[in-house]
Amino acid sequence: MSKNKNLAVISVIIAILTALLISAGIKSGDLNASVLFSQIVGVIIVFAFFIFFILLVKKLAPQHQPPQQVQVEMNTGIEKDFVIRPITSNYTFKDVAGINEVKEELIEIVDFLKNPEKYRNFGINLPKGVLLVGPPGVGKTLIAKALAGEAGVPFFYQSGSSFVQMYVGVGAKRVRDLFSKAKAMAPSIIFIDEIDAIGKARGNLRNDEREATLNQLLTEMDGFEGSEGVIVIGATNKVDLLDEALLRPGRFDRRIFVELPGLKDRMEILKVHLKNKPFKGNLENIAKMTVGFSGAALASLVNEASIYALKQNKPFIEESDFYAVKDKVLMGKKRLNTYSPKEKEILSYYQAAKAVIADWLGVDFERISLVKDDFKEEDKEIISKTEIMSKIETLLAGRIAVEDRFNEKYSNAHKDIKKARELALRMIKDYGMGENIVGDESEVAKILEDAYKETKVLYDSNLPVIEKVYEKMLKDEIIHKEDMKKIRDEIF
Ligand code: ADP
Repeated sequence: MSKNKNLAVISVIIAILTALLISAGIKSGDLNASVLFSQIVGVIIVFAFFIFFILLVKKLAPQHQPPQQVQVEMNTGIEKDFVIRPITSNYTFKDVAGINEVKEELIEIVDFLKNPEKYRNFGINLPKGVLLVGPPGVGKTLIAKALAGEAGVPFFYQSGSSFVQMYVGVGAKRVRDLFSKAKAMAPSIIFIDEIDAIGKARGNLRNDEREATLNQLLTEMDGFEGSEGVIVIGATNKVDLLDEALLRPGRFDRRIFVELPGLKDRMEILKVHLKNKPFKGNLENIAKMTVGFSGAALASLVNEASIYALKQNKPFIEESDFYAVKDKVLMGKKRLNTYSPKEKEILSYYQAAKAVIADWLGVDFERISLVKDDFKEEDKEIISKTEIMSKIETLLAGRIAVEDRFNEKYSNAHKDIKKARELALRMIKDYGMGENIVGDESEVAKILEDAYKETKVLYDSNLPVIEKVYEKMLKDEIIHKEDMKKIRDEIF
């Protein structure tokens, strides 16, 4: 019961008792005004003490309330602690270092948010939903804020988990409220961090609340036109766990991958975070020792190094301060995949071999970095057996190279080997490219064996080039396709 109700009940009781007292006085004929008055005052004082006592007990008692009362006043439906309020973002793309391709993809959306009429007049609908996919700390939230800042539109931030509540209907209501506010303030941006909390594939385990919330989100996204000027940005690092329904056209149909920063981007990020700090030293060295650091980890590294330098009363932050705090930053972060020098060598050689063999066989790519390769997806209708074999051979090149150089097999090859197996299986089972039109398992193995042998020969004959690319990979952590030709020309 609310405090107001308590007071109302108590007032009514006082009124009734007073009335009873007065009527008792009248009945007995003892209508002495001063006696009556003192009786009334006495009653009021007793009740005042009574109320005071109740309030005191309430205050001292532990504040244990069932969670639904904290979240929602069930009878009124008014939520108390969930406030939807946009922020005005002061960030711009300048605050986001590196990830240039991500920015390029988003520039079009900035223009759309700034001039929605221009697009509306031409009947162009921009995507309603953009999904930013990438590990934690790579700047997904930052870039969304920068997008809002660049476009000068309100930014509604919500974490996916804040929608998933214990009671069915609460999450759905929050989604509804969020969209209605955003629409009222359009053009605007809704950012839903960790959208997988709502949009996890439904699977066998039913969760009514999450399902209701997800359905509401789908309804909202279907219910407005792209031209209304609300852009929904979702962030996740688990796109493969997302419910298919979310990825359908008209919902989150644009996906942008945000990767861990490469060497160049790490330098840029360090620069941004050292902008107003007195730093003396070589940034490249610091960038080199931070393979696998996210933008957030780099920001924290700069901060720790500054504190460390300050504690020693130094006028500058130096490289040595970074080395001193690196481990501390690493320990503080959850399992960052940083590589030891040996691991970096293995990865560099592995990726170098893949780049060289791909280039040799004409498997198209833009660049290959220590942590990622960028092979173009085939979008042709018809693919030849030779083309698929080339792809398989490229995927096996890293394993063959590393085994040759380090005399050991390493687990980093697992993704490529899995892909190679899948391709071989498809060749035999789906495309009937084996000896028999109805292929069996042994033919899959044969394809892989042939590819392995062929790649070994290619590896041996390309060794000098691989060696050069390896050196570049160790230094820059990346190789672009156009560099390959230069390297070949230098050797031959
Ligand atoms: P995510 O949303 O991907 O988990 P955030 O956007 O929350 O990552 O990043 C956390 C912090 O890390 C940012 O506020 C910023 O200080 C820093 N950061 C991450 N990426 C970058 C970047 N590309 N440029 C500058 N700072 C970055």
